Amino acid sequence: MRGTTEASARPDSPLLVDRFGRVATDLRVSLTDRCNLRCTYCMPAEGLDWLPKPELLTDDELARLIGVAVTRLGVTDIRFTGGEPLLRPGLEGVIAATAALAPRPRMSMTTNGISLAKRARALVDAGLDRVNISLDTLDPARFHTLTRRDRLDDVFAGMAAARDAGLMPVKVNTVLMRGVNEDEAVPLLRFCLDHGYQLRFIEQMPLDPQHAWNRDDMVTAEEILAALRGAFDLVPEPGDRGGAPAERWLVDGGPATVGVIASVTRPFCAACDRTRLTADGQVRNCLFSRTETDLRALLRDGASDEEIAVRWRGNSWAKAAGHGINDDGFHQPDRPMSAIGG
Ligand code: SAM
Ligand code: SF4
Repeated sequence: MRGTTEASARPDSPLLVDRFGRVATDLRVSLTDRCNLRCTYCMPAEGLDWLPKPELLTDDELARLIGVAVTRLGVTDIRFTGGEPLLRPGLEGVIAATAALAPRPRMSMTTNGISLAKRARALVDAGLDRVNISLDTLDPARFHTLTRRDRLDDVFAGMAAARDAGLMPVKVNTVLMRGVNEDEAVPLLRFCLDHGYQLRFIEQMPLDPQHAWNRDDMVTAEEILAALRGAFDLVPEPGDRGGAPAERWLVDGGPATVGVIASVTRPFCAACDRTRLTADGQVRNCLFSRTETDLRALLRDGASDEEIAVRWRGNSWAKAAGHGINDDGFHQPDRPMSAIGG
């Protein structure tokens, strides 16, 4: 397996430790593989073969697995994602069940923002703390080309509603692509500064279902920073970044910041603190894993919480040192981003 050392004994720890000294405390939960947009870097125009309903975890199964993660495995942060998490019926119930756990984990959600305007208040009432909203362009025609849907105004409304409902800080995720929206780094940062949102640029990763990712089309962190420095004064934010994927800069003296997640050109795998649960109940120790651990089968076979926890710990222990994108012989995972949970 990529980057693993020879077999070594797992210490007797209840936590999600791995053989490189990392501990996973941040769980990404994919609530659905479906989406109401078709972003070109994430989904083909016609969509994908959705997971069949019987294969999806029910709300109760999801709540139980999240409970195992929090109460037995030391997970402190839950991020709901997808696909589009707002399309999951029962979302508020899953959030409320998570909020009732002791110790209560921090909860955030990554969303395209469509229909968030109607849902933000109910999500706060259920216990959600924060949102990350994806926005790659400020131009309606470009938004249509990029997502194959005409919904930019809904996204803007969702962002404003999230801020007004107190889902703060509202973080904005942007993927820049060469010849598509690479000229929008500065306008997007201005927009976010004006509205009180925290912008983070994400380097495009090889997770598209078409397997068409091309390193030369990726706008790198260096290029993004160079463009921003043409308009803003950027100073590295002081302090330890911990497991956070974004490197952050104070903009024009702060306190506003901008982040860059350089997953490809400056991998942060050595500090990774993530574990992932797919909507069909598979645990993955990395976005780029080529193997998964089937917790759904275990759960439906009547396993106890501790038996599930033991299997989850084994999955973490097998985590590779890095994602390997920059290695010869890198193989993209079979599941695309929308089915893993971004
Ligand atoms: N539908 C929600 C959304 O768009 O925010 C949540 C799921 S989406 C897969 C999560 C994040 O992954 C989004 O910010 C999206 O821009 C990002 N993403 C999707 N495909 C990507 C890729 N190939 N490389 C980098 N980021 C990607
Ligand atoms: Fe949907 Fe998010 Fe993928 Fe866009 S990035 S197609 S909004 S899952």
